[in-house]
Amino acid sequence: MIHLPSLPWDDKVWQGHLRDSVKSTQELAEMLDLSTHPLTWINESDFPLFVPKNFVKRMEIGNPHDPLLRQIVPIEDELFLVDGFSAEPLNESNYSPSSGLIQKYYGRVLVITSSACPVHCRYCFRRHFPYNDFRGDSLSQALDYVSEDQSIQEVILSGGDPLSVRDSVLETFIQRLEQFKHIRILRIHTRFPIMIPQRITSRLIRCFEASTLNIVVVVHANHANEIDQDVETACVALLRSRVETLNQSVLLKGVNDSHEALVDLSYRLSDAKISPYYLHLLDRVQGAAHFEVSEARAKALVGEMQRRLPGYLVPRLVREEPGQPSKTLYETTAVASF
Ligand SMILES: *Cc1c(COP(=O)(O)O)cnc(C)c1O
Ligand code: SF4
Repeated sequence: MIHLPSLPWDDKVWQGHLRDSVKSTQELAEMLDLSTHPLTWINESDFPLFVPKNFVKRMEIGNPHDPLLRQIVPIEDELFLVDGFSAEPLNESNYSPSSGLIQKYYGRVLVITSSACPVHCRYCFRRHFPYNDFRGDSLSQALDYVSEDQSIQEVILSGGDPLSVRDSVLETFIQRLEQFKHIRILRIHTRFPIMIPQRITSRLIRCFEASTLNIVVVVHANHANEIDQDVETACVALLRSRVETLNQSVLLKGVNDSHEALVDLSYRLSDAKISPYYLHLLDRVQGAAHFEVSEARAKALVGEMQRRLPGYLVPRLVREEPGQPSKTLYETTAVASF
């Protein structure tokens, strides 16, 4: 039997990090020693700045173009209305059989678990989500829904961030889900292991380890610099508790739109025992147009990843399109010279 070294983290640690997050551009500018910056920073109130300090510490001091900074700092470009970019680009409400549930794909149901996130990503397609109407009882509604549909084999907790809820809530949910024979997989989409890796507490690890479900965690990192030693520790602990960890990224202009950045990210993920899963084209949400990379460029970038990387480190290039029975997969090919 493998002996698990216990993690040094408990609830108080991650909750402290969450409370201590940076919420003003002024504080951010001071931490990064940026008195002037070429992009006009704004104080957005609908979707305010929110970033944990230990993520800010992974940014380069004095660099206004830092790829981690670009993901989280509100800039003036967000205020421009651009054709084709809307508040709800995916029409998710059309696929919601009950509050907080989205079923678009066969055999899988997505549960909006919480309205809270450990960070506010500026390109997030849920940035205009009506969380105020969201009642927060979606976990129990999901159990009712899942119990009546035998075709569902996988429950996906998404968000907001499902790891925003307490371990005891997750434990109870997992135990109840285990009673349905048709459910094989519990998938958790979370940015916590990257933003506040201390969220992977010893109690959470024990809970995953004890579960009869096949548990898959999908993290979200867009750049190699996001993955530090603590992230590695958290993901290796997940692996030891038989949880597979995958990564999804979004292709973002000014963040990871070069083959060097994408190749580095894949190797860094591999160090932390995380497998690249999807590379998403940007969802066309209002306020995020300045992040868009064209389809042609995206295909060329992934083609170059195919040339430089082992196949298992090349993510699938996809786009989420309303009305389709799965994500749209793009074919890419490596070319001899780039
Ligand atoms: C992306 C997504 C899924 C999961 O799709 P996979 O291809 O299985 O990763 C499930 N439901 C919804 C609504 C989604 O957007
Ligand atoms: S953590 Fe995920 S859901 Fe939350 S703001 Fe970022 S991309 Fe959106």
